[in-house]
Amino acid sequence: MSYVDEVIAKITKENPGEPEFHQTLNEVLKSIEVAVEENEDIYRQDGLLERLANPERQIKFRIPWVDDEGQVQVNTGYRVQFNSALGPYKGGLRFHPSVNLGIIKFLGFEQIFKNSLTGLPIGGGKGGSDFDPKGKSDREVMKFCQSFMSELYRHIGADQDVPAGDIGVGGREIGYLYGQYKRITKNYEGVLTGKGLTFGGSLARTEATGYGLLYFTNEILKANNETMEGKDIIVSGSGNVAIYAIEKAKQLGGNPITATDSTGWVYDSEGIDLELLKEIKEIKRGRMSDYAAERSSAEYHEGKGVWSVKGDIALPCATQNELTIDDAKALVDNGVICVSEGANMPTTLDATDYLMDNDVLFGPAKAANAGGVAVSALEMSQNSERLHWTFDEVDNRLQNIMKDIFIQCNSASKRFDAEKNYVMGANIAGFERVAEAMQAQGIV
Ligand code: NDP
Repeated sequence: MSYVDEVIAKITKENPGEPEFHQTLNEVLKSIEVAVEENEDIYRQDGLLERLANPERQIKFRIPWVDDEGQVQVNTGYRVQFNSALGPYKGGLRFHPSVNLGIIKFLGFEQIFKNSLTGLPIGGGKGGSDFDPKGKSDREVMKFCQSFMSELYRHIGADQDVPAGDIGVGGREIGYLYGQYKRITKNYEGVLTGKGLTFGGSLARTEATGYGLLYFTNEILKANNETMEGKDIIVSGSGNVAIYAIEKAKQLGGNPITATDSTGWVYDSEGIDLELLKEIKEIKRGRMSDYAAERSSAEYHEGKGVWSVKGDIALPCATQNELTIDDAKALVDNGVICVSEGANMPTTLDATDYLMDNDVLFGPAKAANAGGVAVSALEMSQNSERLHWTFDEVDNRLQNIMKDIFIQCNSASKRFDAEKNYVMGANIAGFERVAEAMQAQGIV
């Protein structure tokens, strides 16, 4: 058995009931196998992959809070501090009823390689809770965030662990979390990113993941003699990533025609009306059905099915495993040329293989959506300097980072005779930097 297969089997057995973590472990380790083989003896002796696949620390805690009816609610919180070889742990917080340890570990493991690809000094971590902000009043969200931070504060710090947002955690939640951190510790420091602009936030952080996704996708297209101009784009999600992916796609001449939420999806024959989408999702916190009700060119469909729409480029920007093998077949039948992942692990393994086997250009999440964490790291730099950069300065740096990530993916894939396999390229390029730092720091 190869070293990679041994480690996959061992870690899977030691961590039962965590299917999403097993899935990413498999995907990443199998695709870096050729690079591991080059140094297999030394990596095996140093237990490098076992150390990489085991979080440095994982914290689980209870979060009691009182709802508007006076009822005590108890949720569970997590922070997984996966790997600090390259810098302080960095990665978002997810508030969603589906959150459990396995999901946080899958996201944290991916984050190590993504953060490495940015070239910035950030390690990998992730956290969250099974709390559902949907349907809660602002006061309830605030009370929950305060209780969450009352435990989390002792584990984080500007030079130790710097969380950010993810599903269910946007500007409102980050504000409440930051207020409570400051109240407890008396420290006004860059301990969270995605902060409001009046208290240390960075311009372009809100836009960063969606914009970065389009910058990266554009690089893939250019390298393959294609452009965004006039392409119909199928987008899933209608949250932070999806909205700013749609915005940048339009700026680059593309035509986004769909958006989704967890209840249904919209096909808009005239292209998504961005202002209306923002108003419904960012201001009114409404549903995609509300969008369709206000727009005569939009059709609303309940449930799943967005990948059956005919388009040239597909950008899954909602959640994990939302694009399955059947969806991949529909996309290929409809002539899609590129699938690029805004969400984390939105495409199942068999769907990814099917798309690549059918010559669809494929942008993997850890490269394609790294713009969010990259600008988070730029927010940390600004906080340390106590300076604010302009929108254009941050956006220019973001563009350069996304171009550089593409170059790294492309050249690593070529180095291992797998040209255009950006999945392999991203995993190997991300891995090599972390492995080198881990080896240099001794057995810790
Ligand atoms: P948001 O909470 O802002 O939006 C999430 C969107 O996805 C919403 O439209 C939501 O619909 C939908 N969604 C969530 N869960 C499901 C589900 N189980 N089934 C169907 N639809 C679902 O999150 P973000 O936009 O921030 O994150 C989206 C993805 O991007 C996640 O995978 C996240 O990890 C990833 N990501 C985010 C980054 C960021 O900077 N925000 C950075 C890198 C990756 P509804 O409102 O109905 O729940």
